[in-house]
Amino acid sequence: MNSLQKDLWDWKGDYLYVKVLYSKAGIATQILVYDIEEELCFLIDIGDGILRDLVSLPEKYYENIHAILCTHGHFDHIGGLFSFLGFLRMINRNKKLLLIYPPKVIEIEGIVRTFQESYSNSIPYEIKLNEIIEKIHIKNITISAFPVQHRGSIVGGKKLPNIPSVGYIIEKKGERILYTGDTGYFEDLKKHITDVDYALIEGTYKEKKTPFHLSIPEAEKLGKLAKNYKIIHQHTSRNE
Ligand SMILES: [Zn+2]
Ligand SMILES: [Zn+2]
Repeated sequence: MNSLQKDLWDWKGDYLYVKVLYSKAGIATQILVYDIEEELCFLIDIGDGILRDLVSLPEKYYENIHAILCTHGHFDHIGGLFSFLGFLRMINRNKKLLLIYPPKVIEIEGIVRTFQESYSNSIPYEIKLNEIIEKIHIKNITISAFPVQHRGSIVGGKKLPNIPSVGYIIEKKGERILYTGDTGYFEDLKKHITDVDYALIEGTYKEKKTPFHLSIPEAEKLGKLAKNYKIIHQHTSRNE
């Protein structure tokens, strides 16, 4: 590990390291989780700019990305998926790539289908689509998904329905990190967050604005239930 890496991570546990590569509501969110024992990486969400973020790191972590965990199908969480699949094809990856996502996220399946149809004979690696119902085990890691409360919006547009959307807990040998994904407040969130070692909590708005995102005060209150936390997914005002 070179000296640059001392400050690379947002959080370092005994087994897992976490770095928020980028996170802004309506732009992109991507989080890198590193299992130091197995030297395996996971991406949670894969927004636009993922390649820029990954190649800016001091190590080629992209070579060790075992799985991508997607929380939901909004563009700011999956917008970099097509680029990433193409990048892996270009560097001639030969290991399987696992895509984990809640059932019925049609955007992910559509992106993968388009990619596979476009390059059918020249994709050197297998893409495994893995809808998560509750838990998935990978080596000594357990990935659990929990449903959250989320929907999108169109400025000035009509109300949209709730969408399939989850938060994740990644656990290794008792060490637990959590990411809420995009969600409004609901009572069970407290139960999920309490006592986890590191929580990444969305805090989209400065003040309560919608039941489908958390405000920063709500995120702070929830964060204090975890041993450590960071608020992500802040809204960038676009002249609003
Ligand atoms: Zn979002
Ligand atoms: Zn969203």
